[in-house]
Amino acid sequence: MTRLLAEIIFLIGVFGWGAIRIPHEVKNKRKNRVQVSAVDSRERRLLLISLTGLGIVPIAYCLLAGFGLLRFADYGFSTLQAYAGALAFAASLALFLATHRQLGRNWSQTLELREGHTLVTHGVYRLVRHPMYTAFFLWALAQLLLLQNWIVGPAGFIGFGLLYAFRVGREEAMMHEAFGAEYAAYVARTKQIIPYVY
Ligand code: SAH
Repeated sequence: MTRLLAEIIFLIGVFGWGAIRIPHEVKNKRKNRVQVSAVDSRERRLLLISLTGLGIVPIAYCLLAGFGLLRFADYGFSTLQAYAGALAFAASLALFLATHRQLGRNWSQTLELREGHTLVTHGVYRLVRHPMYTAFFLWALAQLLLLQNWIVGPAGFIGFGLLYAFRVGREEAMMHEAFGAEYAAYVARTKQIIPYVY
């Protein structure tokens, strides 16, 4: 394993994520209308911050290696660390695939409820309430381990961590309002992102 290979693996992971997400997005836009939307400028800013940390910064770092972008912050390359990162990305993509399948037409990139929205509590949603966010944290972990740079590595955790911290409460409030006691019971028996822990 080399630094270059680790960066290629990261880019393949991002590409794989797009291959899961984009067809889903296209299908969803065509089919079902949004009924409730809690999207505002704060939510849009958070999405942009997350996109920057998990996407723009690491992709630019990998693709613009020839220009030496942020290379001053590289640290000594560890092969073992990079393998662990590849594993984390594989786990992230598997979880992404499961959450997209199981949320089905209830999926939305942001805080929205669709016409005929149902509460999903099966599959990976039986283990935690926000498995898709778990998958994003696994991506952030993969980035930290694969891109061995003091700035680019942690950028995903910072970007997605902010989105998560400021969004999850509002998302749960929206779900409470829509599903009432059914959601309260679901909250009582599940954790947010790590089964049995948190
Ligand atoms: N937080 C979830 C979903 C992220 S997508 C996860 O991490 O897996 C965001 C949208 O999913 C929200 O706008 C909400 O409408 C919808 N959503 C979240 N949890 C849901 C659930 N258990 N069942 C159905 N829809 C859900």
